[in-house]
Amino acid sequence: MSTVWENSGDAWPEEPERLVSADHTEDDLEIDRSLRPRLLDEYLGQVRVKENLGVLIDAARGRDEPLDHVLLSGPPGLGKTTLAGVIAAELGVRIKTTSGPAVERTGDLAAILTNLEERDVLFIDEIHRLNRAVEEVLYPAMEDFSLDIVIGKGPAARSLRLDLPRFTLIGATTRTGLLTGPLRDRFGMSFRLDYYSVEELAAIVNRSAGILGVPIDARGAEEVARRSRGTPRLANRLLKRVRDYAEVKHEGSITEDIAAEALAFFEVDHIGLDPMDIAILETLAHKFSGRPVGLNTLAAAVGEEPDTLADVYEPFLLQLGFLARTPQGRQATPRAYEHLGLPAPRTAGAGTGAGTEASQDGLFGP
Ligand code: ADP
Repeated sequence: MSTVWENSGDAWPEEPERLVSADHTEDDLEIDRSLRPRLLDEYLGQVRVKENLGVLIDAARGRDEPLDHVLLSGPPGLGKTTLAGVIAAELGVRIKTTSGPAVERTGDLAAILTNLEERDVLFIDEIHRLNRAVEEVLYPAMEDFSLDIVIGKGPAARSLRLDLPRFTLIGATTRTGLLTGPLRDRFGMSFRLDYYSVEELAAIVNRSAGILGVPIDARGAEEVARRSRGTPRLANRLLKRVRDYAEVKHEGSITEDIAAEALAFFEVDHIGLDPMDIAILETLAHKFSGRPVGLNTLAAAVGEEPDTLADVYEPFLLQLGFLARTPQGRQATPRAYEHLGLPAPRTAGAGTGAGTEASQDGLFGP
């Protein structure tokens, strides 16, 4: 089991190979610490979520009560962990951080819960990956702030009920569809984080450049933002890569041309697609000749894990309207063919629904 107070860093997974992957990398740890917003005002974008949360936080503070349990959903790198930290900071309470796969046994969760203090925030990342037994311990903890412990075995076993401090659980998930009904029902509120607009990402790039002391002009920031797949974690990562490139190949400051040149060098195209995205689209278009393809077949064909495909790659391709999900499988859309410079066959997926809820239903709905 690994739990961390604040974000000491040792809970993140290994470095992935892709530059545009939205997963954490070692580099991100360093970036995370300095660039992660602490307060709601520094948390850019997600305007409606912020407005709602601001009111609820003020109300909880005013009543001197813990905030209701919060579920945050959305693709990796959009700021769920950051927002959990911001909520705790705004409430003026401590935050304890862990993740679904890290809490292996019910005893692990019991240890975490009994160490909380009144009104603390417990953040569980990837909460859809909690195992069933652990999840069942969480139900009474969330509902009645109590913990049922069984002592002994067989006929002599006794059940004991412990009172817990009134805490706030913040759960984060990339896929609400994988959450069990009983768990979902126990959250008082649920917020879905959406991809950020280019303007919002440009503001994040400017803020980060200011903190890191990187000279960048407005159009340079926009160019980095355009290629960041709507994802702040990528915006920060690309900014750092572009800074390195600008320092080595140019005088150090970042303009639109230098950002474009650097990102082309790192194989991130003008809308943020990298070689794996292109491979996915080309596989659909060529190998399967535009026919619908199941997730596992597609994953095997491009040499990627089905989960990674579903969590990291697909949501953005769906958002762009490059991918359609039909009951028969995934298909490249006419827009994708256009991006690849290919004529679209008549069978190409019809879905262009950029950014619609419907296009992502299987991933984030309901
Ligand atoms: P998630 O938990 O959804 O995977 P994180 O909270 O770890 O994403 O966010 C990744 C990084 O992106 C953070 O370290 C932070 O620097 C940056 N970030 C995320 N959301 C915002 C935001 N709204 N404003 C500014 N920076 C952000």
